[in-house]
Amino acid sequence: MKTSAYLKKGKEKDLIDALDTKARLQGHVIVPCLDGDTVTFKPAEPGCTPCFSRPAVSPPKGVIYPQSETLFSFKFKKDPEDARRTLIDLNDAIEAPDTIIFGARPCDARGIAIIDRAFSQTDTPDPYYLARREKTTIITLTCPEPSTGCFCTRVGCGPAEKSDSDVMMTEIEDGYLFEALTDKGQAILKNPVLEDGTAHEARAKEVQGAAHERMVKEVGETDTRPVDPELFHSQAFWEKAAERCLGCGACTYLCPTCYCFNITDEQVVDKGERIRSWDACMFHHFTLEASGHNPRAAKALRLKNRIGHKFVYYGEKYDGIIACSGCGRCIRGCPVSMEISSIVAALKEGTKT
Ligand code: SF4
Ligand code: SF4
Repeated sequence: MKTSAYLKKGKEKDLIDALDTKARLQGHVIVPCLDGDTVTFKPAEPGCTPCFSRPAVSPPKGVIYPQSETLFSFKFKKDPEDARRTLIDLNDAIEAPDTIIFGARPCDARGIAIIDRAFSQTDTPDPYYLARREKTTIITLTCPEPSTGCFCTRVGCGPAEKSDSDVMMTEIEDGYLFEALTDKGQAILKNPVLEDGTAHEARAKEVQGAAHERMVKEVGETDTRPVDPELFHSQAFWEKAAERCLGCGACTYLCPTCYCFNITDEQVVDKGERIRSWDACMFHHFTLEASGHNPRAAKALRLKNRIGHKFVYYGEKYDGIIACSGCGRCIRGCPVSMEISSIVAALKEGTKT
């Protein structure tokens, strides 16, 4: 059984093309592509220049959990036998093609593992999410350099964290070592573009160790201290912390671990669709009730909910797990530079912001 493989630099595109053929449906290998000045996950189509040197602006969670998806469509029609009756044609087929996410970061894979629990460990597992999750293989890249705002090692993840991926890909001097971590990963390693990796395993281990050490030096080890309960429930703390928040929701849309959604029915005459779209707890309207009452009308309460969900409530439900991968995207993407890492540090230290 092959547990590692090697790819020479310059052959990245050959491997992506070969995997695309294997996935049988063009466009179902998703890679970080250079898009002007930014990097975004896109299908590996002609015109995509893969870029692995910095993390994508947004995570690849939309591959499994699309920003907007039709859950089912319907059409009313008259019963040809009895015009007093109306029949419904329902299309609730779930599209779940074989898909490979190539070149995600360990924090992206951690994000998907966090969302997995919400959609599977519940009384009503989500068939749409689970069908796509089952068909998705995640190949992550050991982070070569931390980006501004990254704090993964503080929340139990890391630049070379392997626990949430199918394959870990580590850049070494003249190529990449690929390590299979699951059965799906084993299948990837059989690709003929890849060579035997045994001779490069030791070097990849050194690179991974150095990446972890560098990150720990920069932001510290996993912070297991609980948040200070008094401060967590202090209105003054959250009012101060949320002072400059604009309520734009960018932090939630860029977050690999956020999974709130809304459902809308759209109907025109005799046909329609039920659509699920991402929503955000940072929006005023998210909790607005039909009566006009809003239990989280103040932005301080919305920020408390967002951070509380990641660092308190999720862990209460799922074995103390932190629902933040420390990717730093909410920090890099916030127009007023709010820093979740500082707010959480203050909460743990019991200090005011
Ligand atoms: S809360 Fe911020 S740092 Fe944590 S996973 Fe979400 S975007 Fe990344
Ligand atoms: S991105 Fe920043 S300003 Fe926008 S809702 Fe999030 S914390 Fe507030």
